[in-house]
Amino acid sequence: MAFKCQEDSYLTEYTSIVLKCEPTTELIVDYGKISNFEGYKVTLENTILFPAGGGQPHDVGWLNETEVLQVLRKGEEALHFVKEPLAEGTIVHQRLDWDRRFDHMQQHSGQHLLSAILEKEHNMPTTSWWLGVDESYIELDSKVSDDVIEATESRCNELIREAVPVDVKFFKARDPALHQAHTRGLPEDCTDTIRIISIRKVDDNMCCGTHVSNLSELQMIKLIGTEPGKKGKTNLKFLVGNRVTRTFQKMLHRERALTALLKNEPTRHEELVCKLQRNLKITNKCLQNVLIELAQYEADKIRSIVPSPKYVVMFKKEATPEFNRAVLKGLEGQNLFIFLASEEPDRPNEGQIIIQGPVEHCEALGNKITELLKGKGAFKHGKFQGKAGDLTAINKCKRLIEDYFNNLK
Ligand SMILES: [Zn+2]
Repeated sequence: MAFKCQEDSYLTEYTSIVLKCEPTTELIVDYGKISNFEGYKVTLENTILFPAGGGQPHDVGWLNETEVLQVLRKGEEALHFVKEPLAEGTIVHQRLDWDRRFDHMQQHSGQHLLSAILEKEHNMPTTSWWLGVDESYIELDSKVSDDVIEATESRCNELIREAVPVDVKFFKARDPALHQAHTRGLPEDCTDTIRIISIRKVDDNMCCGTHVSNLSELQMIKLIGTEPGKKGKTNLKFLVGNRVTRTFQKMLHRERALTALLKNEPTRHEELVCKLQRNLKITNKCLQNVLIELAQYEADKIRSIVPSPKYVVMFKKEATPEFNRAVLKGLEGQNLFIFLASEEPDRPNEGQIIIQGPVEHCEALGNKITELLKGKGAFKHGKFQGKAGDLTAINKCKRLIEDYFNNLK
């Protein structure tokens, strides 16, 4: 049986009657995103809400005031997922979320057109397709060249400009007229009534989806690049109709934001970002050199203290691993208890700590320090090097070390 939505894709309201209503906990799947559901599945005499199939996501809408969150096809039935039960025999006024549906019609008819041109003019058949929340793609057996992409996009848009009619035709199985049509994208439970989407003189394709009645309603098609697909295949991504405008608007917003940040015109963005990245690299290198020199200076200063200190505590927020290594190297051979701490650049209060020195001091202080700082790591060869989960207790650590050594005197 063909649903009302398959006879006429443009119906946005319709009245039907509830035949069945059963509780269900089946999941809701929308553009591949899965969510839990607890409610009811309602079967109606007929429906204008399209049940997911043939690559096209389900419609959403309302049955009277009850929201329909998903529609699934089970054999001959369309199951409407709702939160509240509807009694058998209830007359329901169906309303369709037309914006979502029309978007699906544009993407789906766009896919038929794109697949037809690639197959007929470039011998590249489509093996499957995906309609996503922002972008869609068709899957191809092989890589597709930039020249083919350009020619295909241009040809599709030419046919859109020519306003080629798109017809829906119904056939009985074994009708000889079916000979020419494709079977791709046809769910097995769709085969009872054979339905052909015909882009006049361009393509005939078996399909259960909802389509525009004229290619002019696609407005335009934009191919936006390829990415590797499953098992060596290629996914060719595309946008049709309102999605082209929507995406272009988002890009304009991003471009304006960048223009404000970079204080220069869009044609210079790339050049300016490259320059910024280069400068940042040089600045980081300089900072590293200065930090290492500073580490050597700090170590020299400690070595020159008379009488020699028993411990060193150094908390430098911006210290890098290189800085810490340089401090430790500078203090080699000194009989010192050393505690170094630094902060993670993007996570304040978290950081790196190093504890090393004579065994008896490490044993007395090590665990207490790591406990205070929620340290993660272990003593290895008399040295602790690890992460600190909470640096807010750093002053407590300093006092703990001071008290310990004062009491030794
Ligand atoms: Zn289709």
